[in-house]
Amino acid sequence: GVWTARIVTLFPEAFPGILGLSLTGKALAQGLWNLQTIPLREFGVGKHRNVDDTPAGGGAGMVIRADVMDAALRDAKRGGPAGPVLYMSPRGRPLTQSRARALAEGPGVTLICGRFEGVDQRVLDAHDVEEVSIGDYVLTGGEIAAQVLIDATVRLIPRVLGNQDSLAEESFSIGNRGLLEHPQYTKPAQWEGREIPEVLLSGNHAAIAAWREAEAERLTKERRPDLWRAWADAAGKHPGQAS
Ligand code: SAM
Repeated sequence: GVWTARIVTLFPEAFPGILGLSLTGKALAQGLWNLQTIPLREFGVGKHRNVDDTPAGGGAGMVIRADVMDAALRDAKRGGPAGPVLYMSPRGRPLTQSRARALAEGPGVTLICGRFEGVDQRVLDAHDVEEVSIGDYVLTGGEIAAQVLIDATVRLIPRVLGNQDSLAEESFSIGNRGLLEHPQYTKPAQWEGREIPEVLLSGNHAAIAAWREAEAERLTKERRPDLWRAWADAAGKHPGQAS
């Protein structure tokens, strides 16, 4: 079957959202991937279909109920297994390009979008849910985080990107040795007194490739010492050594 994202959310109308536009939107329309929303509200309890209640132990805010989330997850699983169940959460392991690559190679993903103070821990334990974060900051809800994960993953599915070559050299890619990408330029050759680096206009492909590699190393070393060290270790270089 086609790669499928199942999303458990209180706001199904947030999907596909921006994922319905541009490359991801075209790919969705072409059936290169599939999107299913599971509206959490439908599994709420009582006349008002409540999904949340006050936190055990007291304190501010509300927590999504285990029984309600369990019913939604069981419904999601009726469609057959489709990859891991992930809870978008600031407490999770940070999302990376290599995780997106691994997810793109699988059958899909089921994503839980939290709201309020989050989800009752027991249902996360019962369903063996892994928490995934999109960064060290707190969002209002998991929907934007889910869209970030889906966007990063879907563009890696074969045929979604018009020119697959653009994947080969981009930031964090294996072709770029996991480093940040070199700076990009386009016409005009002169703009407000600023020039394009001469080598890029030389037509010398070997020199251009060497410049790009050196720039990727320079930027990564400057901005992301963590990535630089990981690459330098793998390449058998001492951290701090330029190239
Ligand atoms: N009480 C939680 C905490 O302090 O860790 C934060 C809850 S947050 C207000 C509501 C929901 O937004 C979370 O359940 C999660 O689904 C989502 N969310 C917030 N920040 C996120 C992040 N950095 N990555 C992924 N999801 C996030």
